[in-house]
Amino acid sequence: MAKHIFVTGGVTSSLGKGIIASSLGALLQARNLRVTIQKFDPYLNVDPGTLNPYEHGECYVTVDGAETDLDLGHYERFLNVPTSQANNVTTGRIYQTVIEKERRGEYLGKTVQVIPHITDEIKRRMLQLGNAGKYDVIITELGGTVGDIESLPYIEALRQLRWELGGLNCVVIHLTLIPYLSAAKELKSKPTQHSVRELARHGVMPDVIVCRTEKKLSDEIKRKISLFCNVDSNAVIEAIDADTIYDVPLTLLKENLDKIILNKLRLNTIAEPNMRKWKTFLGKLKNTTQEANIGLIGKYVELQDAYKSIIESFVHSGAANECKVKIHSIHSEYINKNNVAEKFEKLHGVLVAPGFGERGIEGKIAAIQYARENQIPFFGICLGMQCAVIEFARNVLKIKDASSTEVDKDTPHPIIDMIETQKKITHLGGTMRLGAYACKLKAKSKVASIYRKTNIQERHRHRYEFNSNYQAQFEAAGMSMSGVNPETQLVEIVELNNHPWFIGTQFHPELQSTVLQPHPLFTAFIKAAIAYKSGLG
Ligand code: GLN
Repeated sequence: MAKHIFVTGGVTSSLGKGIIASSLGALLQARNLRVTIQKFDPYLNVDPGTLNPYEHGECYVTVDGAETDLDLGHYERFLNVPTSQANNVTTGRIYQTVIEKERRGEYLGKTVQVIPHITDEIKRRMLQLGNAGKYDVIITELGGTVGDIESLPYIEALRQLRWELGGLNCVVIHLTLIPYLSAAKELKSKPTQHSVRELARHGVMPDVIVCRTEKKLSDEIKRKISLFCNVDSNAVIEAIDADTIYDVPLTLLKENLDKIILNKLRLNTIAEPNMRKWKTFLGKLKNTTQEANIGLIGKYVELQDAYKSIIESFVHSGAANECKVKIHSIHSEYINKNNVAEKFEKLHGVLVAPGFGERGIEGKIAAIQYARENQIPFFGICLGMQCAVIEFARNVLKIKDASSTEVDKDTPHPIIDMIETQKKITHLGGTMRLGAYACKLKAKSKVASIYRKTNIQERHRHRYEFNSNYQAQFEAAGMSMSGVNPETQLVEIVELNNHPWFIGTQFHPELQSTVLQPHPLFTAFIKAAIAYKSGLG
């Protein structure tokens, strides 16, 4: 039977429950345990796919095509194992299941209520991943903050599960904030006491308290938290602010979090986690020998979380090249032909980001034209690839009004268009081309030499596609369709023949980059940026 670890959050949101869960997962995995992490989100959207990135950051897509919370990206980046639809559940999905069941008459005339029907469905889903014997440990992150009205059914489900599973099979970690009051020059434990009390009011006592803090916790404050929150003093764990999220596993290791958990769950493993590869990665990340400036062109650049996976992929690929990647976020709406040279002066590579809708498209096209004409390494992802194709059509093939039907539905030259099956869809949620699809690479292409193979699988999230009626014209003029879906022949990759590095992908490579396996396209792109920089002298 799988053991369960729950992570709750107190005092404020954004404390990094996802990073704590991922870091603990990495430590347990490094002790040869099979670990997965799941997240329960208390909002009513059935999944985050319909949420604007400004609301909730990036939408992370799994191999099986689920649109999920961005924390699943951290789980995959830290554990290097894929997650699935079952790893992310929202209140909306719970209610949808219960209501559908009610409509089918499966409750046999009973009154359907939050307790027990909603809580039973939450419990069923919390246990689900542990049923097949695939994992030794399931870590469950509860979204939201203890005390929120919408979190209550989850806390109640947790209380029941803990009782049913028993203390040797289930531990609760409460992540909290210890604020530092500079006027009093003191760290304060009171908010933590209150949030633990709130949890206790609902019948859940944490086994471990992880304290986010800017300053070291004294033994005295640890003792105080231990005494007032009913946890062992060695189970009060300091999680001090770190340089990067990838330091956190080692911070928690120093505090013995893994040992404490294993002890409580009576799990026998090797004496110490094997973090050798992780430490090699950190060593490279922190001891870089070069630097490259990369422009990230998108329309959600004000919000870091909107391009989370891309930014993290640059961290992984930067480390692989022992290169500090400096990301310069540039808003696509503010780029035009007149200012692009000045804006791109210091850049050694340009990435045009994914996106939806018309806003910012012309800026992206101006950026791509500049990178193409000036031989600056260019990487276009999803909408970024679509814009690269439109730019090439307009400025090289001289098809002046080339466009995408997403931007101009009556364009005479729909270079990017919806495929027939997408045209019939009326519902927005979960209906894009989603998840992993096969792609066959041309043997002599740049991408084949980067991947070092010709059959790949990459993840998708889009409705529009390259219109293959134009393919021959593009190929004749030097833009090669170097990756296609072997079943549908849809174009998945374009590259320029006479350019040092110009690649656009219809898929999202950033979703498959991890600490231990940086994505080859990102690694090659950074290498090209370093080469471009040295060419500048
Ligand atoms: N809006 C484009 C489409 O739906 C691109 C999507 C994306 O960049 N993820 O095809």
